[in-house]
Amino acid sequence: MSIASYLSEDLGASVEFDTFRDAFRETLQNVFSRRADFDELSTSRGLPPFVMREIQSLTPLSVFIPEEYGGRGGHVHECQAILATASYESLALSLTLGINGALFLQPLTKYGHEEVKGPIFERFTEDKNMGGLMITEPDYGTDALNMKTSYTKEDGTYHVDGTKHWAGLTGWADFWLITARRQGSDGELGRDIDFFVADMNQPEQLVEVEEFYENLGLYMIPYGRNNVDIRVPEEHRLQPNSTGIKMMLDTLHRSRIEFPGMGMGFLQRILDEAISHARERSVGGQALINYDQVQRRITEIQAAFTACSAMCLHTSEHAHTDNDLSGKALSANAIKTVVTDLMQDASQSLLQLMGGKGYQLDNVAGRSVVDSRPFQIFEGSNDVLYQQISEAMLKSMRQLKETNLETFLSDHDLTSRAVEYFDDTLNFEVDQSLSQRKLVELGRILGRIVTMELVIELGDRGFRSDLISNCLQVFKTNAEGLLAGYHETKQTSVIEDYVEGSAWIDFVQA
Ligand SMILES: Cc1cc2nc3c(=O)[nH]c(=O)nc-3n(C[C@H](O)[C@H](O)[C@H](O)COP(=O)(O)OP(=O)(O)OC[C@H]3O[C@@H](n4cnc5c(N)ncnc54)[C@H](O)[C@@H]3O)c2cc1C
Repeated sequence: MSIASYLSEDLGASVEFDTFRDAFRETLQNVFSRRADFDELSTSRGLPPFVMREIQSLTPLSVFIPEEYGGRGGHVHECQAILATASYESLALSLTLGINGALFLQPLTKYGHEEVKGPIFERFTEDKNMGGLMITEPDYGTDALNMKTSYTKEDGTYHVDGTKHWAGLTGWADFWLITARRQGSDGELGRDIDFFVADMNQPEQLVEVEEFYENLGLYMIPYGRNNVDIRVPEEHRLQPNSTGIKMMLDTLHRSRIEFPGMGMGFLQRILDEAISHARERSVGGQALINYDQVQRRITEIQAAFTACSAMCLHTSEHAHTDNDLSGKALSANAIKTVVTDLMQDASQSLLQLMGGKGYQLDNVAGRSVVDSRPFQIFEGSNDVLYQQISEAMLKSMRQLKETNLETFLSDHDLTSRAVEYFDDTLNFEVDQSLSQRKLVELGRILGRIVTMELVIELGDRGFRSDLISNCLQVFKTNAEGLLAGYHETKQTSVIEDYVEGSAWIDFVQA
């Protein structure tokens, strides 16, 4: 491991990563468990200023900043590890760091104009500034490519105009990346998407918050609706290598593939909470952990921990900003969908095991349920991403003129070894004209097979074999259950006008 050149105020010397991470962990433990009441922190909105000051004193975001600009060099395993350390204590804090890293610092590193990068990175390392990304608009979320925020060029500056909402760190970030489409002289919007850096210290670049939202969870992070009517210098436009849409895909795929960093500490915390609660809680004269169904739940949480570990390993070796991830839809989408499902399922399971106690607002279980839920929605709704996973695979099958799923997956580098765990259940022909719901079901299955492949690789590297074999068994069972549903061909449709003849009380024989 290279000796990082980053100089920490507190450590006063150039620090090895392990030392850096340990100091960060200690600061978080201090802030979350000792200095502030953790429960109060996570049930009230925002963060007391001293908390963020202490967290930022170690400059955790330096892991995302290139060495030549005073950062630790943007090593992905360091980024993943810092996100994981944060999410053990607070998923919202980890998402805050993830937003800054994947949605602002990494795209700026890769596509930013040399002239603006230095001063901005300096403001992150010295002044502990923060940045986020605005893509979503009130009428264009999933359908982001049709966004209406526009830009025109006037006298060497760009005028960006539109409405953005749900951007994490609304009203708090010092910098924004704002997406927009070029408006031609005929008023028409071009098809490509461009990114502009806005500096909230500059009055003409200031984005105006029109409304703050009462978000259900992730209380630490402000969200809302913003009016964008700003003017930024020419150098504030990111420079795509080819098209802006490819730049956006590269950025979003990198961000999605980095979700396991946020999942990792979160899942480990859920696992630790589940084990300690099940050992301590006595029901019917014995510890909960002795019940078979409890064992089942905890094994599944543990499988999620192992699978997420495997994803972190894969991400660390594949997501560097030097790599072009615009074509990596399969791995990025599979990892994002599966890890976010695992996070939500694990927190639901912990809540079940906790019983009534888990439903208290300040309990880690209930809070984890609401905090992890939007991960299945943002950066690509999971329903849509599962569909895209299947579509990408069907396209490759068409190109190879292959119709058998098992044969195709046996030859694919993201699935070839995982397929061997299935007896004959993947040996069937795939229809090229599947309904959307079947595409989604198939995408779920494929996402789990890809995850198994990553777990096999983790096992090869020497990770504990008992955890690996349990995890593979859980995922195989899960995928086979989904396969049974996939083969069910009877399709139901919504009866929209359902009220007439549907009141149960009319049929009571009293
Ligand atoms: C906590 C949180 C944080 C966020 N952070 C950011 C951020 O930092 N920056 C940013 O720009 N945005 C952010 N967002 C916005 C987020 O990316 C959007 O909410 C998301 O893209 C969905 O868009 P939408 O809300 O307009 O829902 P819609 O586009 O209306 O979609 C709603 C649902 O409809 C279904 N659906 C949509 N299209 C299809 C389809 N083609 N086929 C089948 N089903 C479909 C899906 O189930 C989908 O979840 C955040 C949102 C949340 C909740």
